[in-house]
Amino acid sequence: MPITYDAIIIGGGHNGLVTAAYLARAGKKVLVLERRAVLGGACVTEEVWPGFKVSSLSYLCSLMQPRIIQELELARYGYHIYPKDPSFFTAFPDGRHMFFFQDQKKTLEQIAKFSKRDAEYFSRYEAELEHLAEWVESLLLETPPNIVQRKVSDLIALGKIGLRTAKLGDANLVRMVKIMTQSVRDFLDERFESEEIKTTLATDGVIGTNGGPSTPGTAYILLHHIMGGAAGARGLWGFIRGGMGAISQSIAASAQAHGASIRTEADVQKIIVKDGKATGVVLHDGEEIYAKRIISNADPKRTFLHLVEAQQLAPEFRSQITNFKSHGSAVKINLALDGLPNFTAFPTEGLGLPHKTTMHVCPSMDYIDRAWDDAAEGRPATNPMLECTIPTAYDDSIAPPGKHIMCIFAQFAPYKLKNAEWTNELKDQFADRCLDALAEYAPNIRDIMLHRQVISPFDMEREYGLTGGSIFHGDMGLDQLFFMRPVAGWAKFRTPVQNLYLCGSGTHPGGGVMGAPGFNAAREILKDFSG
Ligand SMILES: Cc1cc2nc3c(=O)[nH]c(=O)nc-3n(C[C@H](O)[C@H](O)[C@H](O)COP(=O)(O)OP(=O)(O)OC[C@H]3O[C@@H](n4cnc5c(N)ncnc54)[C@H](O)[C@@H]3O)c2cc1C
Repeated sequence: MPITYDAIIIGGGHNGLVTAAYLARAGKKVLVLERRAVLGGACVTEEVWPGFKVSSLSYLCSLMQPRIIQELELARYGYHIYPKDPSFFTAFPDGRHMFFFQDQKKTLEQIAKFSKRDAEYFSRYEAELEHLAEWVESLLLETPPNIVQRKVSDLIALGKIGLRTAKLGDANLVRMVKIMTQSVRDFLDERFESEEIKTTLATDGVIGTNGGPSTPGTAYILLHHIMGGAAGARGLWGFIRGGMGAISQSIAASAQAHGASIRTEADVQKIIVKDGKATGVVLHDGEEIYAKRIISNADPKRTFLHLVEAQQLAPEFRSQITNFKSHGSAVKINLALDGLPNFTAFPTEGLGLPHKTTMHVCPSMDYIDRAWDDAAEGRPATNPMLECTIPTAYDDSIAPPGKHIMCIFAQFAPYKLKNAEWTNELKDQFADRCLDALAEYAPNIRDIMLHRQVISPFDMEREYGLTGGSIFHGDMGLDQLFFMRPVAGWAKFRTPVQNLYLCGSGTHPGGGVMGAPGFNAAREILKDFSG
C-alpha cells in the first residue's frame, strides 16, 4: 500500500480547491480528484453554446472571503469582480418599478415612491442587519465547538461566543433570536408597510431555500445573503469576469503554483477504510490511490451514504446523515440572447439600468407563497418566482460581440415531485412558464432568445453531484447550522472515520461561494498533521 500523497481531496468544487491550496501552501503533497471534466462544481463556467461561456449554476459572488482572496493571491490568478449596481430592479404589474442602488440616497428616493415611512426607516433597517451580519461573520472562519461530548476547549469556545453575543446588547440579541427563527415575512412585516418593498427584500430570504416567505427560519437566509460584499462594499454582489468558474480556476491555479496536482474525470467510487482509518480511494476504473488523509468536498450524504461502506459507520451516525435535510427546489435556466430584454416599466435603448442589476419577477409576497405552496405539494410552481441577471452587461469576455447571456434562477420546483418525474418535457413546460412570467414585464424576451438550457434539481444531483438538488449541500435551517452542521458532534470537519474529513458546503458555515468551509477544514487538517 504505497502512500503517495499527504492528502487526497475528493471533488474539485471551489471549497475542495481552497483546502487543496492551503494544504499545498503548507508544504503538503496534495491530489484533487474531480469526477467531472471541468473544475468548480457549482461554481463553474461552461461553454454551453459556441462562444457563450455560461455560469451554469451559481451566478453572483459576494460571500467569497476577502482573507482567502488575499492569501491565495486570487487576483494574480485571474479573479476579478464587477460590483453589481444597481443591486435590484423589480417591476410591478401596475407598471411601477423600483431600483436599489449602492448610493443609499438614490435607493431612499426609490422607496419613497412606495412609502415615505419605509424610506425613513430603511437606513435603520440596513444598520440593524449590518450589526447582526457582523456577528455572524465573526463566526464564519471559526471551527464550531462540540455541543455533545464537550471538552474543556469546547466549553471555553462556547463561553467566548456567549460573551461576544452578550456584547450585542439587549435589542440586538432579541433581533438575532428573531432573525434566526422568524419567517422573512414576519421579519419584514415588523419593519415595513409597503408590499412592494417587502417583496423586493423578501427574495433574499427565500433564494435557494426550501421554504416560502412565511416559512419560519427564512429570515436567516436574508442575513446569509447580505454578509460579505464585492470590491470592499458590504452586502454588494458582483459578476466574476469569465463567469463563476474563474473563481474556481483561480483557486486551482493558486494551488497548482504550490505543487498541488489536480485530475479531472476522476470519479471516486469508494473511500478505502481499514481498521477504522481512511487510507485511500478507489476510482471508477479500479485505480487505487493512497494518502495519509482523505478529504471529501462531496456533500455529507454523498460522502457517507455512497462513498463510505455502511459497515464502517455506526448505525446512529448513518441515520443522522440519512436524516440530514438536503432538498432543492430551484431550476436554473440559462439563455443565449441576440439582444437585450426591454422592460415596459423602464424602457431602454440598448444597455440600460435594469440589465445591470438583478431583475426580479415576483409581484407580491403572496405570489411567492403560492409558488412555494405548489412546490410543497410536489409540483413545479404554476407562477414561478424569478431572479434574472445578465453578466454580459459587465463582462465582454463571455459571449460573442452583440450577444448576451441571461441567467434565470427560478423557484419553486421541487426535486421530489408528486406523481411525476423531471423529464425533458416537464423541464420545458416549467421553463415556458418562467418565460411567460418574464414576458409579462419584458415582452420581447422570446424574440431575442437564441438558445435555452434548463437545469432541474434532478440534473443538479445527477450531473453536478448535489444530493437532492440542494444548492447549499443541505438545508440551512438553524437545526443544520454551525455546531449542528452536518450533525451535532461532527461539525469540526473531522468524521467518525479517522483521517477522513469533510470540506464542502455541508459543513460550517454552509453554502454559497465563500470558500469558508474549505478554509476551516484546511486549518483543522493541518492541526492534525502537526499534532
Ligand atoms: C443553481 C445554483 C445557483 C447558485 N447561485 C449561487 C450564487 O449566485 N452565489 C453563491 O454564492 N452561491 C450560489 N450557489 C451555491 C454555491 O454555488 C454552492 O454552495 C457552492 O458552489 C458549493 O461549493 P462546494 O465546493 O462546497 O461544493 P461543489 O461545488 O458541489 O463541489 C463538489 C465537487 O465534488 C465533486 N464530486 C462529488 N462526488 C465526487 C466523487 N465521487 N468523485 C470525484 N468528485 C466528486 C463534484 O463534481 C463537485 O465538483 C448556487 C448553487 C446552485 C446549484
